[in-house]
Amino acid sequence: MAHIIAEPCIGTKDAACVEVCPVDCIHPGKGEGDYAGATQLFIDPDTCIDCGLCVDECPVHAIYPQEDLPGEWKQYIQINADFFKNRK
Ligand code: SF4
Ligand code: SF4
Repeated sequence: MAHIIAEPCIGTKDAACVEVCPVDCIHPGKGEGDYAGATQLFIDPDTCIDCGLCVDECPVHAIYPQEDLPGEWKQYIQINADFFKNRK
């Protein structure tokens, strides 16, 4: 399991969540080359330890534990994972 970033991040993308993640699994951060072109930020499911620290940092409530992700955003599980597959 992992935490998932869903649709509300699109258009906000302020990277507040990146600062609090203890395992640095939220990308791309503002200092990374693919930040400008990214529609949203993503959580690497292979690295996320489900600590939940990022959830309260998000001003638009875009981050959910996978099991609590609202049904209309289930596709974001794959969208988050795919970002890292394409990046590695
Ligand atoms: S739940 Fe914890 S480990 Fe996972 S992305 Fe959020 S801050 Fe990082
Ligand atoms: S804090 Fe929320 S809106 Fe900001 S980048 Fe993270 S998920 Fe996106």
